Amino acid sequence: MSVAEPFVARDSRPAYFRSLAEAIRDPDELITSLDLPDTLREPARRAAVSFPLIVPRSFLARMRPADPDDPLLRQVLPIGAENDSVEGFIADAVGDLHARTAPGLIHKYHGRALLIAAGSCAVNCRYCFRRHYPYQDDPRRPDDWEPALAAIEADRSLTEIILSGGDPLMLTDSRLASLVAHLEGISHVRRLRIHTRLPIVLPDRVTAELLDLFASTRLATAVVVHANHPREVVGDCAVALKALAASPASLLNQAVLLRGVNDDADILAELSERLFMLGVLPYYLHQLDRVAGAAHFEVPEATGLAVVAELARRLPGYLVPRYVRETAGEPGKTSIH
Ligand SMILES: *Cc1c(COP(=O)(O)O)cnc(C)c1O
Ligand code: SF4
Repeated sequence: MSVAEPFVARDSRPAYFRSLAEAIRDPDELITSLDLPDTLREPARRAAVSFPLIVPRSFLARMRPADPDDPLLRQVLPIGAENDSVEGFIADAVGDLHARTAPGLIHKYHGRALLIAAGSCAVNCRYCFRRHYPYQDDPRRPDDWEPALAAIEADRSLTEIILSGGDPLMLTDSRLASLVAHLEGISHVRRLRIHTRLPIVLPDRVTAELLDLFASTRLATAVVVHANHPREVVGDCAVALKALAASPASLLNQAVLLRGVNDDADILAELSERLFMLGVLPYYLHQLDRVAGAAHFEVPEATGLAVVAELARRLPGYLVPRYVRETAGEPGKTSIH
């Protein structure tokens, strides 16, 4: 796949609209389609009430049937442990709500601010640190961004804007282009960053229009995708990543260290190597944010350190992600060492 061979014809409704509409939203359907034990049904239904299940079929197709421990399944299947309350695991784990400087704008670190460009995702990751974030208070329509854009314009120290969410690629290409055009109009903004999991879970979101946007913007652009396991970056996802890598945007990956998913040097080494073959460099390996409902995913930092040390022994330096945690009130992500 190259930029010249887009997934969709330019004048048709993008194929990903349909993929999104057809995503699995019913825990029973997920369990049935993967031939999983019936004992998982009741807890899945219960845990999906407060944080719904969403899994695109492309992602489902990369899971192994009849394996309740499948590392891709574990990231999306609601389980009973989510309803346990565990000391230290809270709703706003990273202090985002205190750093909101305008509706939808989170400015914590020097020089860069994060714009909550969309309130939803194509997948609901059970460990998500924003699983309790009050998106309803953030902008929904383009006009609602005015205060955030005005705040960016008024602060000349902001040279980079990070589109985040939710997932910013849940915006249509025309909405995204219009938001980017507004940012381009602010002269001190030089860099655009897009934090997105859609190229991984909904690969047909990588449209010709999106690639055109990266080709035409004056902003130096980085796309930071989010894959946690090497089996995520195969098939249609690999094709989408290669298409992105052929665009002028720099392509990086952030992963979250997750118990029973990727808390293992073999797995993370394979992830880095596969990503590099597709044109993606590892950026961060995040220590889990201590959000309520995600305690069962936590890996002790001592284990994380041992895993990263092993990665550093095996891989060239550029394939070793930086192991970081986010601490409310700190001026940036904190390296763990
Ligand atoms: C993680 C994060 C950033 C980006 O940090 P980098 O170290 O530049 O990747 C910016 N703003 C907020 C609020 C963040 O959580
Ligand atoms: S894609 Fe990111 S923001 Fe969306 S549910 Fe997963 S971790 Fe959360």
